[in-house]
Amino acid sequence: MDVNWTGGCFCGALRYRVTEEPRLKAQCHCRACTHISGGGPNYFMVIPPDSFAWEAGEAAEFSRPDSARAVWRAFCPTCGTHILSRRRGLQGVVLKVGTLDRPEVFEGASIAIFCEEALPWLTVPEGVTAFDTLPES
Ligand SMILES: [Zn+2]
Ligand SMILES: [Zn+2]
Repeated sequence: MDVNWTGGCFCGALRYRVTEEPRLKAQCHCRACTHISGGGPNYFMVIPPDSFAWEAGEAAEFSRPDSARAVWRAFCPTCGTHILSRRRGLQGVVLKVGTLDRPEVFEGASIAIFCEEALPWLTVPEGVTAFDTLPES
């Protein structure tokens, strides 16, 4: 289904548009996401690659060279807001839902991943399927 969702970074330099429904809505509890989220899970949706477009600004990118499962993280070079990640082998853009102008379109995750790394006080909501690591498909 087509959508018309906009979003951007905290300072407004980066702007983007999403034009198709996400393929997956999830939350990640891995150590890297915990670091970047500030302590909670990272809530994200996987957007088909052709339905995400930057409309303003130029994102900086970073990938940790010392981690085999490191992803490319795109963020605002001015305010530091992390907008999205790309992972080798994944056809899609992993978009952080908090950067949407209307984050409520997310409507909650359907799965939780890397729960074996979740902080002890975090609980996965009822109805959300929890995986220890990354599910195969
Ligand atoms: Zn910014
Ligand atoms: Zn993660």
